[in-house]
Amino acid sequence: MGVWRTVWATVLGGALALAGLPAHAQTPVELTRAASQVPLSPHVRYLHDPGGRMDLVDIDQRLAQGGFAPLPGGSSSFGFQAGAFWFHVPLVNRASDQPRWLLVQQYALSDQIDTYVRYGDGRIAHQAGGDTLPFSARSIRYRHPNFQLDLPYDTPVDLFVRVESQSSMQVPLVLYTPSAFAELARDAQFGIGLYYGILIALFFYNLVLWLTLRDASYFWYLLHISAFGLVLFTLNGLGFEYLWPNSAWLADKSVPLSICLAQVGMQQFARVFLDLGTRWTLGDRVGMGFIVFFVLLGVASIWLPYELSTPIAAAAVFISITWIAIAAVVTMRRGYKPARLFLLAWAMFLLGTGMFTAVAFGAVPKNFVTEYGVQMGSALEMLLLSVALSYRYAALRTENERIVREAKLQLEHKVEQRTSELRSALAQLGDAHARLRETSQRDGLTGLHTRKYFHEAFEPLLEQSRHTGRPLAVLMIDLDHFKAINDRYGHLAGDECLRAAAHAIGQALRPHQALLARFGGEEFVAALPGADLARAAQIAEQVRAAVAGAPCDCGEQVVSMSVSIGVHALGAGSKDGIDVAFKQADQALYHAKADGRDRVRTSGAVPA
Ligand code: GH3
Ligand code: MG
Ligand code: MG
Repeated sequence: MGVWRTVWATVLGGALALAGLPAHAQTPVELTRAASQVPLSPHVRYLHDPGGRMDLVDIDQRLAQGGFAPLPGGSSSFGFQAGAFWFHVPLVNRASDQPRWLLVQQYALSDQIDTYVRYGDGRIAHQAGGDTLPFSARSIRYRHPNFQLDLPYDTPVDLFVRVESQSSMQVPLVLYTPSAFAELARDAQFGIGLYYGILIALFFYNLVLWLTLRDASYFWYLLHISAFGLVLFTLNGLGFEYLWPNSAWLADKSVPLSICLAQVGMQQFARVFLDLGTRWTLGDRVGMGFIVFFVLLGVASIWLPYELSTPIAAAAVFISITWIAIAAVVTMRRGYKPARLFLLAWAMFLLGTGMFTAVAFGAVPKNFVTEYGVQMGSALEMLLLSVALSYRYAALRTENERIVREAKLQLEHKVEQRTSELRSALAQLGDAHARLRETSQRDGLTGLHTRKYFHEAFEPLLEQSRHTGRPLAVLMIDLDHFKAINDRYGHLAGDECLRAAAHAIGQALRPHQALLARFGGEEFVAALPGADLARAAQIAEQVRAAVAGAPCDCGEQVVSMSVSIGVHALGAGSKDGIDVAFKQADQALYHAKADGRDRVRTSGAVPA
């Protein structure tokens, strides 16, 4: 009979539920020993009280009138809603050893939650929760609001839950036995710990890199990762549990504030990482626009009501992160290699955040993947971004090294070029100098060496003679009556005659390794290394004969010339210097002139 009643009630209940008929005909949810964890969403019926003024009496009336409806599509997410939501579910505890069950609202941000358990005798047990109350008001210290319910064995009760919140209306209610809850809490805490462990490890790893490399992109990564970690810390209810357990105000404002901060970090990180300033100026400006917007929204959210600032922030986040993906695609297509890893990381993040935002707006049902999508996506994203940062740094370094190498090569090439130019300039200068020296050493008219040169060149000959003990002779050669030639034939003819005489003297001295110079005017001087006085006299005689035998042909006339020559020889072991030698030779020349010209005279007697 009992079985039939149950079947009947189920069928009827189902039919009534489908027809939207009174819910008090609903079958109670049986809490058995086998089911240690009972999600209430499939069983719960709800009523929206937009004004938020109904009390339990009004609600009872509406329940009797069939004002409650099953959750639309089984989803407990309604998005941002005004007023209060009432939920009702009849329960009966069939587990004799579990008199206490824990009701958990698996969404951290609801402002006010009131639970009412109405027993068969009309007694009502009321509890209040939500983040408008201090954290310590919770039955169990846990990041989600929770309520301990006394459910007497085998006794049907009515559970009413009233939720009013400026945050997204999400009411995923679950009943746990204390032991099942302990297990769940442990697993969830482990998962969360793992997530923040990854974040903290990445944070410190990149902090060290930032401190050593001083690359700004690392700093913005750090801001991005910490601000984003804060967003999730807040959304998970951990911020309220650990950071501001007594501040309902911060519990309220922390969501939009941390979202704005995280977006500022993200946009700035993307700008720096993708090098938008040089690679895509327009994109850089738009990124800057987003930053300004989020700073303003963050400041405004301090005064704006939550139900206004949070949906704006959430929608802006959607546009902002989509924009960053676009920027990554654009820079990638422009050949920026680090953008590829960045885009992959961003895709992970987009997926996770997209799911989370969709849940917040009630667009998709809440389940493990959609709820923890952000965590999974963002953990992957941050990991990949960290890799991308290293890759980018390495790429930049290689690029820098290439530039330095090329610059060095170019410099080396330039230096080489300059050196060879300098060398050739020096060579030219050397040539010019040599030519200049040569011309300064040569007499312009006769082409013979100058007197100055003779002096310089005679010293080494003198030195050599002293060193070797070989004799050295000096000839002083003077043209006879040259003034008369000038006077008679003119100065130009005189020049011509001078040249002819110089040539004849040179020719005559050629076989004797003589050093010959124009001493001045029509006078010449010659040094004969190795020649003693007798030998020098012989050579002087040859010179005299050569000049006498080669008259000058000056065009119209042929002019005969003669020379007088004075000879002096420095014997082996002589200590005489150049001046004495010249004087002696000059003396001999004087004798030659005095004796009638056109002859050779020596400074001393020539030994027979
Ligand atoms: P002496 O036999 O005593 O040497 O008689 P000289 O006329 O040769 O001697 P003097 O020293 O009186 O005159 C030398 C002349 O040589 C005077 C000068 O006009 C001439 N003379 C000197 N240098 C040049 C020159 O470069 N060109 C020409 N055309 N004449 C010169
Ligand atoms: Mg003279
Ligand atoms: Mg003369």
